[in-house]
Amino acid sequence: MDLLETIKDVLKIADQLRDVELKRKLTNVQIECVELAQENAMLREKMLRLEETAATSETMVFHDNVYWAQRNRAPAEGPFCPKCWVDQGKAVPMTEQTHWLCVVCNTDIIMKQPTVTEQDLIPPRESSK
Ligand SMILES: [Zn+2]
Repeated sequence: MDLLETIKDVLKIADQLRDVELKRKLTNVQIECVELAQENAMLREKMLRLEETAATSETMVFHDNVYWAQRNRAPAEGPFCPKCWVDQGKAVPMTEQTHWLCVVCNTDIIMKQPTVTEQDLIPPRESSK
């Protein structure tokens, strides 16, 4: 039987007995039960996240400044944000454009060493002064 339901039933009995002290103490027990249930739910969620992180970390490899998930012999998945992975254990995929960008924390990683372009060869403008 559910503990909170049992407490409600006992509270009804205390009400019928008009025992104010018993009712007050049962109400405190009820509040503590709710708090324990909330803490339990939070801990379960945290445990699931840690299990997920542990399972993923076995497959995460770091190269080219980002993380990649290497599962079995399949091609590596990724890239994943190094900041989100190291700070919070979250495998956040990064968008792939000219840079890799994390949509959660905005970490911006340059994919390759920049090559010399014509724009790089233009001398800086002289000051107007
Ligand atoms: Zn990130």
